[in-house]
Amino acid sequence: MLEEKVKKVIRDIPDYPKKGIIFKDITTLLNNAEVFKEVIDYFAKKYKDIDFVCGIESRGFIFGSAIAYAINKGFVPLRKKGKLPYTTVSEKYALEYGFDEIEIHIDAFKDIKNPKILLVDDLIATGGTAEAAVKLIQKIGGIVVAAGFVIELTFLDGAKKIRDLGIKVDSIAK
Ligand code: 5GP
Repeated sequence: MLEEKVKKVIRDIPDYPKKGIIFKDITTLLNNAEVFKEVIDYFAKKYKDIDFVCGIESRGFIFGSAIAYAINKGFVPLRKKGKLPYTTVSEKYALEYGFDEIEIHIDAFKDIKNPKILLVDDLIATGGTAEAAVKLIQKIGGIVVAAGFVIELTFLDGAKKIRDLGIKVDSIAK
């Protein structure tokens, strides 16, 4: 089963980036050709009919762009404030201490009406980042069909924030 394979190849890094946090390291999934491909194929098979894949900086770029390539659709990066060169729309979200902000190019979905979007990130924890990403996509007219994650930290219940927006959460490993 893919969930078991994913769990087997990711590794826990204790006290990263700070004491008390156990970080899920996905680089050991990326360098495993078989599991990396199966993860991409899992999403590619289910979301063939979308118009764009949106990936969240930075690990969402890796999975998101591979999925977009596999289904022959465009990729749209959602980036941290100040990184995108053209006119942007932005959305702030709360962190444990303070705020962060992500942005999208205002014309990212070109002239497609009601474009269907697959949102992708490597992991959902509190759900704050993904919630801001959904709002950002909606601000420029995108319809988020699903939010896909390789890993969901269920004890933080971040997926609820996304489901409360009426959006399907599709995570491989819980
Ligand atoms: P949230 O906003 O859901 O609390 O945090 C999710 C964001 O933080 C994602 O963009 C994800 O890449 C990153 N993140 C938080 N914790 C981890 C972790 O343990 N491993 C990885 N790979 N990313 C994490």
